[in-house]
Amino acid sequence: MRIDILTVLPDLLVSPFSHSILKRAKEKGVAEIYVHNIRDFATNKHKSVDDYAFGGGAGMVMMIEPIVLCMEHLQSQRKYDEIIYMSPDGELLDQKMANSLSMLKNVIILCGHYKGIDERIRRHFITREISIGNYVLSGGELAAAVFVDTVIRLLPGVLNDETSALSDSFQDDLIAPPVYTRPADFRGLKVPDLLISGNTPEIEKWKHEQSVERTKKRRPGMFKE
Ligand code: SAH
Repeated sequence: MRIDILTVLPDLLVSPFSHSILKRAKEKGVAEIYVHNIRDFATNKHKSVDDYAFGGGAGMVMMIEPIVLCMEHLQSQRKYDEIIYMSPDGELLDQKMANSLSMLKNVIILCGHYKGIDERIRRHFITREISIGNYVLSGGELAAAVFVDTVIRLLPGVLNDETSALSDSFQDDLIAPPVYTRPADFRGLKVPDLLISGNTPEIEKWKHEQSVERTKKRRPGMFKE
């Protein structure tokens, strides 16, 4: 999967992709992530990427031209499956969406800033708008990092244990069971006996029951009999 992220603050996106699982995904060649500075496509002498809003009102608006030039530059090299704008009023990101988007080959992600982007970009160039939650961030970069992380970890070969994404919360409409590690006794706080019994079928049964329990309690709306 190839992901091209368009931003006015490329530095914000260096660290999220330089560690752990996302780093491994890049090293293995499973995911290619490129960050593009929209300012490199600014055409006026001040290299501006934002301007005052028509009709007045507080806050700057990201200009259409540098963004479209950057997109066209990328589209002249390959075909993109989706051009995504990270937006608080977009479709709410969930595991199902992450699963389906992990099938895509080439994706552009546009990060907004200030008051947002010129509406004409949304209407005529963006194919999908994604929100990471009903709250407002100051820029789309952190949202893009969240989105890219959740999608990339699903790609085959990224996680060490191929099945481990499958046992995560939401993957099967269930929340993951509790997990424990050594020591089995910490100041009298003990791990459930069953987990150290070696009785694999019973352990699996317990895990499933715990998942069902947790889902009913924490996400009752998600629970299906
Ligand atoms: N004025 C806009 C918010 C702009 S916030 C409004 O009220 O809707 C600036 C940028 O941050 C947005 O352009 C978007 O790219 C990003 N952003 C903010 N909150 C987000 C969220 N919850 N999900 C995804 N992107 C978000």
